[in-house]
Amino acid sequence: MYLSKLFIPITKNLPSEAKIKSHQLMIQTGMIKQSSAGIYSWLPLGFKVMKKIEQIVREEQNFIGAQEMLMPTIQSSEIWKESGRYEDYGEEMLRIKDRQGREMLYGPTNEELITDVFRTSVKSYKSLPQLLYHIQWKFRDEIRPRFGVMRCKEFYMKDAYSFDLSDEDAKKSYNKMFYSYLKTFSRLGLKAIPMAAETGPIGGDLSHEFVILAETGESQIYADKRILQIDPSQYKFNDVSLQKMRKDFSTIYAVTDEKFKENEFNKQVSKENQMVAKGIEVGHIFYFSDKYSKPMNCLIDDKDGKKTSVKMGSYGIGVSRLVGASIEANFNNNIMKWPKTISPFDVVIIPSISKNNKENLIKAENVYKELKKQNIDVLLDDVDENMSNKFKKHDLIGVPYQIIIGSKSEKDNFEFKELNSKSEILSLEKIKSKLKL
Ligand code: ATP
Ligand code: MG
Repeated sequence: MYLSKLFIPITKNLPSEAKIKSHQLMIQTGMIKQSSAGIYSWLPLGFKVMKKIEQIVREEQNFIGAQEMLMPTIQSSEIWKESGRYEDYGEEMLRIKDRQGREMLYGPTNEELITDVFRTSVKSYKSLPQLLYHIQWKFRDEIRPRFGVMRCKEFYMKDAYSFDLSDEDAKKSYNKMFYSYLKTFSRLGLKAIPMAAETGPIGGDLSHEFVILAETGESQIYADKRILQIDPSQYKFNDVSLQKMRKDFSTIYAVTDEKFKENEFNKQVSKENQMVAKGIEVGHIFYFSDKYSKPMNCLIDDKDGKKTSVKMGSYGIGVSRLVGASIEANFNNNIMKWPKTISPFDVVIIPSISKNNKENLIKAENVYKELKKQNIDVLLDDVDENMSNKFKKHDLIGVPYQIIIGSKSEKDNFEFKELNSKSEILSLEKIKSKLKL
Protein backbone atom coordinates (compact mmCIF):
# COMPACT_ATOMS: atom_id res chain seq x y z
CA MET A 1 0.00 0.00 0.00
CA TYR A 2 1.21 3.48 -0.88
CA LEU A 3 0.82 5.90 2.00
CA SER A 4 -0.51 8.60 -0.34
CA LYS A 5 -3.43 6.28 -1.21
CA LEU A 6 -4.12 4.94 2.27
CA PHE A 7 -7.17 6.39 3.98
CA ILE A 8 -5.39 7.52 7.10
CA PRO A 9 -6.66 10.87 8.34
CA ILE A 10 -3.75 11.89 10.57
CA THR A 11 -4.72 14.81 12.80
CA LYS A 12 -2.77 17.23 14.95
CA ASN A 13 -5.66 18.46 17.08
CA LEU A 14 -6.59 16.00 19.72
CA PRO A 15 -10.03 15.89 21.28
CA SER A 16 -9.92 17.21 24.82
CA GLU A 17 -11.49 14.05 26.19
CA ALA A 18 -8.58 11.89 24.97
CA LYS A 19 -6.89 11.47 28.32
CA ILE A 20 -4.79 8.38 27.77
CA LYS A 21 -2.13 7.56 25.21
CA SER A 22 -4.00 4.85 23.32
CA HIS A 23 -7.03 7.07 22.81
CA GLN A 24 -4.89 10.00 21.66
CA LEU A 25 -2.80 7.91 19.34
CA MET A 26 -5.73 6.11 17.77
CA ILE A 27 -7.37 9.44 16.95
CA GLN A 28 -4.11 11.03 15.86
CA THR A 29 -3.17 8.26 13.42
CA GLY A 30 -6.71 7.95 12.11
CA MET A 31 -7.34 4.44 13.41
CA ILE A 32 -10.80 5.29 14.69
CA LYS A 33 -13.32 8.08 14.47
CA GLN A 34 -15.86 8.73 17.17
CA SER A 35 -19.41 8.69 15.93
CA SER A 36 -21.11 9.39 19.26
CA ALA A 37 -20.21 8.86 22.91
CA GLY A 38 -18.63 5.40 23.22
CA ILE A 39 -19.35 4.48 19.60
CA TYR A 40 -16.64 4.46 16.94
CA SER A 41 -16.01 3.81 13.29
CA TRP A 42 -12.92 1.71 12.68
CA LEU A 43 -10.90 3.25 9.86
CA PRO A 44 -8.56 1.12 7.71
CA LEU A 45 -5.46 1.30 9.92
CA GLY A 46 -7.32 0.51 13.15
CA PHE A 47 -9.49 -2.09 11.47
CA LYS A 48 -6.42 -3.91 10.17
CA VAL A 49 -4.94 -4.21 13.66
CA MET A 50 -8.24 -5.35 15.14
CA LYS A 51 -8.66 -8.01 12.45
CA LYS A 52 -5.17 -9.35 13.16
CA ILE A 53 -5.99 -9.63 16.86
CA GLU A 54 -9.28 -11.30 16.01
CA GLN A 55 -7.48 -13.87 13.85
CA ILE A 56 -5.04 -14.82 16.61
CA VAL A 57 -7.92 -15.15 19.07
CA ARG A 58 -9.75 -17.33 16.53
CA GLU A 59 -6.74 -19.60 15.88
CA GLU A 60 -6.21 -20.21 19.59
CA GLN A 61 -9.90 -20.93 20.16
CA ASN A 62 -9.86 -23.40 17.28
CA PHE A 63 -6.70 -25.00 18.66
CA ILE A 64 -8.45 -26.10 21.86
CA GLY A 65 -11.37 -27.48 19.86
CA ALA A 66 -13.81 -24.60 20.18
CA GLN A 67 -16.09 -24.19 17.15
CA GLU A 68 -16.87 -20.84 15.62
CA MET A 69 -20.45 -19.78 14.93
CA LEU A 70 -22.27 -16.47 14.75
CA MET A 71 -25.20 -15.31 16.84
CA PRO A 72 -27.17 -12.14 16.11
CA THR A 73 -26.62 -8.81 17.84
CA ILE A 74 -30.35 -8.25 18.41
CA GLN A 75 -32.03 -10.63 20.85
CA SER A 76 -35.56 -11.18 22.01
CA SER A 77 -36.34 -10.22 25.61
CA GLU A 78 -38.18 -13.54 26.11
CA ILE A 79 -35.08 -15.61 26.85
CA TRP A 80 -33.78 -12.97 29.25
CA LYS A 81 -37.08 -13.12 31.12
CA GLU A 82 -36.63 -16.88 31.42
CA SER A 83 -33.18 -16.57 32.97
CA GLY A 84 -34.36 -13.75 35.22
CA ARG A 85 -31.76 -11.27 33.97
CA TYR A 86 -34.07 -8.99 31.98
CA GLU A 87 -34.78 -6.79 34.97
CA ASP A 88 -31.46 -7.39 36.77
CA TYR A 89 -29.29 -6.16 33.93
CA GLY A 90 -30.58 -2.65 34.45
CA GLU A 91 -29.72 0.40 32.41
CA GLU A 92 -26.60 -1.04 30.80
CA MET A 93 -28.92 -2.97 28.48
CA LEU A 94 -30.08 -1.19 25.36
CA ARG A 95 -33.76 -2.05 24.96
CA ILE A 96 -35.53 -1.69 21.64
CA LYS A 97 -39.04 -2.36 20.31
CA ASP A 98 -39.72 -3.73 16.85
CA ARG A 99 -42.70 -2.53 14.77
CA GLN A 100 -44.99 -5.10 16.38
CA GLY A 101 -44.11 -3.65 19.74
CA ARG A 102 -42.07 -6.73 20.74
CA GLU A 103 -39.39 -6.07 23.31
CA MET A 104 -35.93 -6.67 21.88
CA LEU A 105 -32.45 -5.78 23.05
CA TYR A 106 -28.96 -5.34 21.67
CA GLY A 107 -26.94 -8.18 23.22
CA PRO A 108 -24.52 -7.21 25.99
CA THR A 109 -23.49 -10.90 26.24
CA ASN A 110 -24.92 -14.20 25.00
CA GLU A 111 -25.47 -16.75 27.77
CA GLU A 112 -29.23 -16.81 27.22
CA LEU A 113 -29.05 -17.01 23.44
CA ILE A 114 -26.53 -19.84 23.37
CA THR A 115 -28.48 -21.75 26.02
CA ASP A 116 -31.55 -21.44 23.81
CA VAL A 117 -29.61 -22.71 20.78
CA PHE A 118 -28.24 -25.58 22.81
CA ARG A 119 -31.43 -26.77 24.49
CA THR A 120 -33.22 -27.22 21.19
CA SER A 121 -30.30 -29.02 19.55
CA VAL A 122 -28.63 -31.30 22.07
CA LYS A 123 -30.45 -33.90 24.13
CA SER A 124 -27.85 -36.46 25.19
CA TYR A 125 -24.62 -36.60 27.17
CA LYS A 126 -23.13 -38.36 24.13
CA SER A 127 -22.86 -35.00 22.33
CA LEU A 128 -20.84 -33.50 25.18
CA PRO A 129 -18.49 -31.79 25.78
CA GLN A 130 -19.07 -28.84 23.46
CA LEU A 131 -17.24 -25.55 23.17
CA LEU A 132 -18.82 -22.89 20.96
CA TYR A 133 -17.76 -19.32 20.33
CA HIS A 134 -18.48 -16.31 18.22
CA ILE A 135 -16.83 -12.96 17.64
CA GLN A 136 -19.51 -10.35 17.51
CA TRP A 137 -20.35 -6.75 18.43
CA LYS A 138 -21.82 -6.17 21.86
CA PHE A 139 -23.63 -3.18 23.27
CA ARG A 140 -23.53 -2.03 26.88
CA ASP A 141 -24.85 1.39 27.71
CA GLU A 142 -21.87 2.15 29.96
CA ILE A 143 -22.56 5.00 32.36
CA ARG A 144 -19.16 6.56 31.61
CA PRO A 145 -17.79 5.48 28.24
CA ARG A 146 -14.18 6.67 28.11
CA PHE A 147 -10.60 6.03 27.14
CA GLY A 148 -11.49 5.50 23.49
CA VAL A 149 -11.91 1.83 22.61
CA MET A 150 -11.16 0.71 26.16
CA ARG A 151 -14.61 1.42 27.56
CA CYS A 152 -17.09 1.74 24.73
CA LYS A 153 -20.79 1.30 24.44
CA GLU A 154 -20.36 -0.74 21.29
CA PHE A 155 -17.41 -3.10 21.33
CA TYR A 156 -16.14 -6.26 19.67
CA MET A 157 -15.90 -9.35 21.83
CA LYS A 158 -15.05 -13.01 21.48
CA ASP A 159 -17.37 -14.96 23.74
CA ALA A 160 -17.22 -18.71 24.12
CA TYR A 161 -19.51 -21.09 25.98
CA SER A 162 -18.79 -24.58 27.33
CA PHE A 163 -21.29 -27.39 27.88
CA ASP A 164 -20.48 -30.42 30.01
CA LEU A 165 -22.19 -33.23 31.86
CA SER A 166 -20.47 -32.90 35.23
CA ASP A 167 -18.68 -30.31 37.33
CA GLU A 168 -15.49 -32.23 36.86
CA ASP A 169 -15.72 -32.18 33.06
CA ALA A 170 -16.72 -28.53 33.10
CA LYS A 171 -13.54 -27.66 34.97
CA LYS A 172 -11.55 -29.38 32.24
CA SER A 173 -13.20 -27.08 29.71
CA TYR A 174 -12.42 -24.13 31.98
CA ASN A 175 -8.76 -25.14 32.11
CA LYS A 176 -8.58 -25.39 28.33
CA MET A 177 -9.80 -21.83 28.03
CA PHE A 178 -7.40 -20.69 30.74
CA TYR A 179 -4.58 -22.16 28.66
CA SER A 180 -5.90 -20.74 25.40
CA TYR A 181 -6.11 -17.25 26.93
CA LEU A 182 -2.53 -17.22 28.14
CA LYS A 183 -1.36 -18.45 24.76
CA THR A 184 -3.46 -15.89 22.90
CA PHE A 185 -2.19 -12.96 24.96
CA SER A 186 1.38 -14.09 24.63
CA ARG A 187 1.05 -14.28 20.83
CA LEU A 188 -0.29 -10.72 20.99
CA GLY A 189 2.93 -9.71 22.74
CA LEU A 190 1.20 -9.16 26.08
CA LYS A 191 1.91 -10.50 29.53
CA ALA A 192 -1.50 -11.23 31.01
CA ILE A 193 -1.91 -12.23 34.64
CA PRO A 194 -4.85 -14.45 35.57
CA MET A 195 -6.51 -13.11 38.71
CA ALA A 196 -9.12 -14.72 40.87
CA ALA A 197 -12.18 -12.51 40.39
CA GLU A 198 -15.73 -11.89 41.51
CA THR A 199 -18.31 -13.19 39.10
CA GLY A 200 -20.63 -10.13 38.99
CA PRO A 201 -23.87 -10.25 36.98
CA ILE A 202 -22.74 -13.34 35.00
CA GLY A 203 -22.83 -15.38 38.24
CA GLY A 204 -21.11 -18.58 39.39
CA ASP A 205 -18.29 -19.41 41.76
CA LEU A 206 -15.14 -19.83 39.70
CA SER A 207 -13.81 -16.92 37.71
CA HIS A 208 -10.56 -15.38 36.51
CA GLU A 209 -9.85 -12.02 34.99
CA PHE A 210 -6.85 -11.70 32.69
CA VAL A 211 -5.18 -8.41 33.34
CA ILE A 212 -2.21 -6.72 31.71
CA LEU A 213 -0.17 -4.24 33.69
CA ALA A 214 -0.62 -0.61 32.64
CA GLU A 215 -0.68 2.60 34.67
CA THR A 216 -3.79 3.76 32.87
CA GLY A 217 -5.74 0.59 33.65
CA GLU A 218 -9.01 0.74 35.53
CA SER A 219 -8.44 -2.43 37.55
CA GLN A 220 -6.57 -2.26 40.83
CA ILE A 221 -4.52 -5.39 41.36
CA TYR A 222 -2.74 -6.96 44.30
CA ALA A 223 -0.38 -9.81 43.56
CA ASP A 224 2.68 -11.75 44.43
CA LYS A 225 5.28 -10.68 41.87
CA ARG A 226 6.36 -14.27 41.36
CA ILE A 227 3.22 -14.89 39.33
CA LEU A 228 4.91 -12.99 36.48
CA GLN A 229 7.62 -15.62 36.35
CA ILE A 230 5.43 -18.61 35.57
CA ASP A 231 6.04 -19.48 31.94
CA PRO A 232 2.78 -20.68 30.35
CA SER A 233 4.63 -22.38 27.49
CA GLN A 234 5.88 -25.10 29.85
CA TYR A 235 2.40 -26.68 29.97
CA LYS A 236 1.14 -29.22 27.49
CA PHE A 237 -2.32 -29.44 26.05
CA ASN A 238 -3.70 -32.34 28.05
CA ASP A 239 -6.03 -32.47 31.05
CA VAL A 240 -3.35 -33.33 33.61
CA SER A 241 -0.93 -30.62 32.54
CA LEU A 242 -3.72 -28.04 32.26
CA GLN A 243 -4.96 -28.81 35.74
CA LYS A 244 -1.44 -28.33 37.04
CA MET A 245 -1.24 -25.06 35.16
CA ARG A 246 -4.30 -23.62 36.83
CA LYS A 247 -3.17 -24.91 40.21
CA ASP A 248 0.29 -23.33 39.81
CA PHE A 249 -1.28 -20.00 38.98
CA SER A 250 -3.91 -20.26 41.72
CA THR A 251 -1.46 -20.97 44.53
CA ILE A 252 0.23 -17.61 43.98
CA TYR A 253 -1.72 -14.67 45.35
CA ALA A 254 -3.24 -12.43 42.65
CA VAL A 255 -6.60 -10.67 43.04
CA THR A 256 -8.42 -7.58 41.85
CA ASP A 257 -9.71 -5.04 44.36
CA GLU A 258 -13.13 -6.68 44.71
CA LYS A 259 -11.52 -9.75 46.28
CA PHE A 260 -8.73 -7.93 48.09
CA LYS A 261 -8.34 -8.29 51.85
CA GLU A 262 -5.35 -6.53 53.34
CA ASN A 263 -4.66 -9.00 56.14
CA GLU A 264 -4.70 -11.96 53.72
CA PHE A 265 -2.37 -10.15 51.35
CA ASN A 266 0.10 -9.42 54.15
CA LYS A 267 -0.14 -12.93 55.49
CA GLN A 268 0.36 -14.69 52.15
CA VAL A 269 2.85 -12.42 50.40
CA SER A 270 6.16 -11.24 51.81
CA LYS A 271 6.75 -7.48 51.68
CA GLU A 272 9.38 -7.67 48.94
CA ASN A 273 7.10 -9.73 46.67
CA GLN A 274 4.04 -7.53 47.09
CA MET A 275 2.90 -5.88 43.87
CA VAL A 276 0.17 -3.25 43.94
CA ALA A 277 -0.51 -1.97 40.47
CA LYS A 278 -3.04 -0.89 37.88
CA GLY A 279 -4.08 -3.13 35.05
CA ILE A 280 -6.38 -3.49 32.06
CA GLU A 281 -8.81 -6.37 31.98
CA VAL A 282 -8.54 -8.01 28.56
CA GLY A 283 -10.38 -11.24 29.26
CA HIS A 284 -12.71 -12.81 31.78
CA ILE A 285 -13.72 -16.44 32.24
CA PHE A 286 -16.51 -17.88 34.38
CA TYR A 287 -17.74 -21.24 35.48
CA PHE A 288 -21.36 -20.97 36.60
CA SER A 289 -22.66 -24.54 36.41
CA ASP A 290 -26.47 -24.58 35.90
CA LYS A 291 -27.16 -20.90 36.57
CA TYR A 292 -28.74 -20.51 33.11
CA SER A 293 -29.46 -24.10 32.10
CA LYS A 294 -31.68 -24.67 35.14
CA PRO A 295 -34.14 -21.77 34.81
CA MET A 296 -34.08 -22.13 31.03
CA ASN A 297 -34.71 -25.84 31.16
CA CYS A 298 -31.68 -26.85 29.16
CA LEU A 299 -31.72 -30.55 29.99
CA ILE A 300 -29.78 -33.50 28.72
CA ASP A 301 -30.07 -37.23 29.34
CA ASP A 302 -27.21 -38.53 31.46
CA LYS A 303 -25.75 -42.04 31.24
CA ASP A 304 -28.68 -43.50 33.20
CA GLY A 305 -31.25 -41.75 31.05
CA LYS A 306 -31.97 -39.23 33.81
CA LYS A 307 -32.55 -35.60 32.82
CA THR A 308 -30.00 -33.19 34.18
CA SER A 309 -29.17 -29.51 33.65
CA VAL A 310 -26.11 -29.04 31.47
CA LYS A 311 -23.09 -27.45 33.19
CA MET A 312 -21.94 -24.25 31.54
CA GLY A 313 -19.15 -21.72 31.57
CA SER A 314 -18.56 -18.54 29.57
CA TYR A 315 -15.34 -16.96 28.36
CA GLY A 316 -14.87 -13.44 27.00
CA ILE A 317 -12.02 -11.58 25.32
CA GLY A 318 -12.28 -7.88 24.54
CA VAL A 319 -11.00 -7.90 20.96
CA SER A 320 -11.52 -4.18 20.32
CA ARG A 321 -10.26 -3.25 23.81
CA LEU A 322 -7.06 -5.15 23.05
CA VAL A 323 -6.14 -2.68 20.30
CA GLY A 324 -6.01 0.11 22.91
CA ALA A 325 -4.47 -2.15 25.55
CA SER A 326 -1.66 -3.06 23.20
CA ILE A 327 -0.87 0.62 22.67
CA GLU A 328 -0.88 1.25 26.43
CA ALA A 329 1.56 -1.63 26.86
CA ASN A 330 3.89 -0.80 23.96
CA PHE A 331 3.98 3.00 23.65
CA ASN A 332 7.16 4.38 25.12
CA ASN A 333 9.10 7.66 24.79
CA ASN A 334 6.73 8.93 22.10
CA ILE A 335 7.31 5.83 20.00
CA MET A 336 4.66 3.24 19.28
CA LYS A 337 6.00 -0.14 18.29
CA TRP A 338 3.40 -2.73 17.36
CA PRO A 339 4.23 -6.34 18.10
CA LYS A 340 5.03 -8.04 14.77
CA THR A 341 1.99 -10.30 15.04
CA ILE A 342 -0.56 -7.47 15.01
CA SER A 343 1.24 -4.59 13.31
CA PRO A 344 -0.88 -2.99 10.54
CA PHE A 345 2.07 -3.53 8.14
CA ASP A 346 5.15 -5.74 8.31
CA VAL A 347 7.52 -3.00 7.17
CA VAL A 348 7.51 0.59 5.93
CA ILE A 349 9.79 1.88 3.16
CA ILE A 350 10.76 5.50 3.71
CA PRO A 351 12.54 7.04 0.72
CA SER A 352 13.97 10.53 0.91
CA ILE A 353 12.29 12.32 -1.97
CA SER A 354 11.93 15.83 -3.28
CA LYS A 355 10.36 17.50 -6.29
CA ASN A 356 13.61 17.35 -8.28
CA ASN A 357 14.86 14.00 -7.15
CA LYS A 358 12.71 10.97 -7.65
CA GLU A 359 15.59 8.48 -7.81
CA ASN A 360 15.02 7.18 -4.29
CA LEU A 361 11.33 6.80 -4.95
CA ILE A 362 12.07 4.61 -7.98
CA LYS A 363 14.41 2.47 -5.86
CA ALA A 364 11.75 2.26 -3.18
CA GLU A 365 9.16 1.10 -5.70
CA ASN A 366 11.46 -1.70 -6.81
CA VAL A 367 12.05 -2.82 -3.24
CA TYR A 368 8.29 -2.62 -2.69
CA LYS A 369 7.60 -4.93 -5.62
CA GLU A 370 10.24 -7.42 -4.46
CA LEU A 371 8.82 -7.60 -0.94
CA LYS A 372 5.25 -7.86 -2.21
CA LYS A 373 6.27 -10.93 -4.21
CA GLN A 374 7.30 -12.53 -0.91
CA ASN A 375 3.87 -11.81 0.58
CA ILE A 376 5.32 -9.22 2.91
CA ASP A 377 2.77 -6.54 3.76
CA VAL A 378 4.59 -3.31 2.87
CA LEU A 379 3.73 0.33 3.33
CA LEU A 380 5.57 2.75 1.07
CA ASP A 381 5.77 6.33 2.24
CA ASP A 382 5.65 8.07 -1.13
CA VAL A 383 4.56 11.40 0.37
CA ASP A 384 6.70 14.38 -0.56
CA GLU A 385 7.64 15.54 2.92
CA ASN A 386 10.91 16.09 4.77
CA MET A 387 12.51 13.09 6.45
CA SER A 388 12.25 14.38 10.00
CA ASN A 389 8.48 14.76 9.67
CA LYS A 390 8.28 11.33 8.11
CA PHE A 391 10.15 9.76 11.01
CA LYS A 392 7.92 11.49 13.54
CA LYS A 393 4.85 10.20 11.74
CA HIS A 394 6.15 6.64 11.59
CA ASP A 395 7.10 6.72 15.26
CA LEU A 396 3.36 7.05 15.85
CA ILE A 397 2.04 4.68 13.19
CA GLY A 398 4.31 2.14 14.84
CA VAL A 399 5.26 -0.27 12.02
CA PRO A 400 8.16 -2.07 13.74
CA TYR A 401 10.58 -2.22 10.76
CA GLN A 402 11.74 0.51 8.41
CA ILE A 403 13.73 0.48 5.19
CA ILE A 404 15.17 3.93 4.78
CA ILE A 405 16.27 4.88 1.28
CA GLY A 406 18.35 8.02 1.51
CA SER A 407 21.98 9.15 1.81
CA LYS A 408 23.11 6.02 3.66
CA SER A 409 21.80 3.48 1.20
CA GLU A 410 24.13 2.32 -1.55
CA LYS A 411 23.35 0.62 -4.82
CA ASP A 412 21.65 -2.54 -3.62
CA ASN A 413 22.07 -2.06 0.09
CA PHE A 414 19.60 -0.20 2.23
CA GLU A 415 19.32 1.20 5.71
CA PHE A 416 17.21 -1.17 7.77
CA LYS A 417 15.95 -0.23 11.18
CA GLU A 418 13.88 -1.81 13.88
CA LEU A 419 12.09 0.86 15.92
CA ASN A 420 13.96 1.66 19.14
CA SER A 421 17.22 0.18 17.84
CA LYS A 422 20.16 1.25 15.71
CA SER A 423 19.93 0.92 11.94
CA GLU A 424 22.21 -1.23 9.80
CA ILE A 425 23.05 -1.34 6.09
CA LEU A 426 21.83 -4.58 4.55
CA SER A 427 21.24 -6.16 1.18
CA LEU A 428 17.67 -6.70 0.11
CA GLU A 429 18.16 -10.46 0.51
CA LYS A 430 19.19 -10.03 4.16
CA ILE A 431 16.27 -7.67 4.76
CA LYS A 432 13.85 -10.21 3.30
CA SER A 433 15.11 -12.96 5.54
CA LYS A 434 14.96 -10.71 8.63
CA LEU A 435 11.35 -9.83 7.84
CA LYS A 436 10.39 -13.44 7.37
CA LEU A 437 11.69 -14.56 10.75
P1 ATP B 1 -15.30 -4.42 32.92
O1 ATP B 1 -15.09 -4.80 34.35
O2 ATP B 1 -14.09 -3.82 32.26
O3 ATP B 1 -16.56 -3.63 32.70
P2 ATP B 1 -16.70 -6.85 32.44
O4 ATP B 1 -16.31 -7.70 33.58
O5 ATP B 1 -17.98 -6.14 32.45
O6 ATP B 1 -15.53 -5.80 32.14
P3 ATP B 1 -17.06 -9.11 30.67
O7 ATP B 1 -18.54 -9.13 30.74
O8 ATP B 1 -16.31 -10.16 31.36
O9 ATP B 1 -16.52 -7.67 31.08
O10 ATP B 1 -16.60 -9.02 29.13
C1 ATP B 1 -15.49 -9.71 28.58
C2 ATP B 1 -14.42 -8.75 28.06
O11 ATP B 1 -15.00 -7.78 27.20
C3 ATP B 1 -13.75 -7.94 29.15
O12 ATP B 1 -12.70 -8.67 29.74
C4 ATP B 1 -13.24 -6.74 28.38
O13 ATP B 1 -11.98 -7.05 27.78
C5 ATP B 1 -14.27 -6.55 27.30
N1 ATP B 1 -15.20 -5.45 27.65
C6 ATP B 1 -16.16 -5.45 28.60
N2 ATP B 1 -16.81 -4.28 28.63
C7 ATP B 1 -16.23 -3.51 27.66
C8 ATP B 1 -16.47 -2.18 27.19
N3 ATP B 1 -17.41 -1.42 27.72
N4 ATP B 1 -15.69 -1.71 26.17
C9 ATP B 1 -14.72 -2.48 25.62
N5 ATP B 1 -14.47 -3.73 26.02
C10 ATP B 1 -15.20 -4.25 27.03
MG1 MG C 1 -18.51 -4.20 32.69
